[in-house]
Amino acid sequence: MSRSYSPRKRSLVTGGAGFLGSHLIDRLLGDGHEVLCVDNLFTGTRDNVAHLRRHERFEFLRHDVTFPLYVEVDQIYNFACPASPIHYQHDPVQTTKTSVHGSINMLGLAKRLGARILQASTSEVYGDPSIHPQTEDYWGNVNPIGPRSCYDEGKRCAETMFFDYHRQHGLDIKVARIFNTYGPRMHPADGRVVSNFVVQALTGEPLTIYGDGLQSRSLCFVDDLIDGIVALMDSEPGFTGPINLGNPVECTMRELAEMVIELTASKSELVEAPLPADDPRQRQPDISLARSRLGWEPKVELRDGLELTILDLRERILG
Ligand code: NAD
Ligand code: UDP
Repeated sequence: MSRSYSPRKRSLVTGGAGFLGSHLIDRLLGDGHEVLCVDNLFTGTRDNVAHLRRHERFEFLRHDVTFPLYVEVDQIYNFACPASPIHYQHDPVQTTKTSVHGSINMLGLAKRLGARILQASTSEVYGDPSIHPQTEDYWGNVNPIGPRSCYDEGKRCAETMFFDYHRQHGLDIKVARIFNTYGPRMHPADGRVVSNFVVQALTGEPLTIYGDGLQSRSLCFVDDLIDGIVALMDSEPGFTGPINLGNPVECTMRELAEMVIELTASKSELVEAPLPADDPRQRQPDISLARSRLGWEPKVELRDGLELTILDLRERILG
C-alpha cells in the first residue's frame, strides 16, 4: 500500500543499470511510475540509464544490495546479480552473497514496507535438466560444487528465502524463472552467446562454437520478457509463481551462429572451442502457466530480435 501522497507507484529496481533492469525501468517510467534504480555498477553501466538522467521521476543510487537499504517504495523488482557466466564466476563468493544476502535485505525492506516484491530467478535453477521442456514443478539437476554453482545455488537459495518470507511473514512475493534473454544493451564483452557471436561476426573474428554446438537454448527478446515481468508483478494477489518466462522456440548454438553470419553478411568462419564445465545440454521453457495465468507469450521472432540486437551492437562497437 502506498504511504506517499503521490498517486504514482514508486518502484525500486535493483540491478537497474544492467541489461534487463534498464529496459524494465524504461517500461515503468513509460507507465507513469517513480523509479529508484539501485546498482553497484559491477556489470551494469551508467550508459544504460544515461538517457534518463534528467527524467523527473527517475533516481539513481549507487549501492551494493549485500548491505541493508532503507528507502520508501511501493514495489520492488530484485534484479541485482551478474548474469553471464564470465561475470558471475569472476568473484563467485560475491555472486552468492548478492543472491542470498541481497534477497534477505530486499525481503526485509519489503516486509517493513508491506511492499510487493518480485525476484528475477532463472532457468539455471533447473541446472542440466533431465526433463524437457522444463515445467515449474521440476526440481532441477544442479551441481552444488561446480563453477556455475555460485549462480545456480545462489538463485535457488534466494527462491527458498522468498517462499519462507511468504509463508512465515505473509509477504506478497512473485518469482519469475527467466530463460536466456537477449537484445539491445547487452554487454558486448559479457561472453554470452548472442553478444559473442554478433561481436565476432561484426569484427570479422571467427565465431566460437563451444563443444559440438548441438546444445540448445531458447532465446527470448528483451521486450517480450519485460512484458512478462510487468504482467507477473501486476498479477492477482496470492499468485506467487514460480513461473517460467522465456521463448519456447529452441535452436542449437550452431544454427544461431549461422543465422548471425547471414544477418550480418559476415565473412567470419565458425571454430570449435572447448565446452565449459556443467554447460547444460538443452533448455526450453514450458510456458503453459504464463499463458494461462498471465495471458503472456513471446511475440518477437528470433530473426527480428537479432536484427535489432545487431543494429545496437554495430552502433556501439563500430561507432
Ligand atoms: P546484468 O549483469 O546486465 O545486470 C545485473 C545488474 O546487477 C548490473 O547492473 C550489476 O551492476 C548489478 N549488480 C550486481 N551485483 C550487485 C550488487 N551486489 N548490488 C547492486 N547491484 C548489483 O544482467 P542481466 O542480464 O540484466 O540480468 C538481470 C537479472 O536477471 C539477474 O538477476 C539475472 O540473474 C536475471 N536473469 C537474466 C537472464 C538473461 O538472460 N539476461 C536470464 C535469467 C535470469
Ligand atoms: N556458447 C558458445 N559460444 C560462445 C558463447 C557461448 O557456443 O561464444 C554456448 C555455451 O556453451 C552455451 C550456450 O552458448 O551452451 C549459451 O551460453 P550463454 O553463456 O549465453 O548462456 P547459458 O549457458 O548461461 O545459458
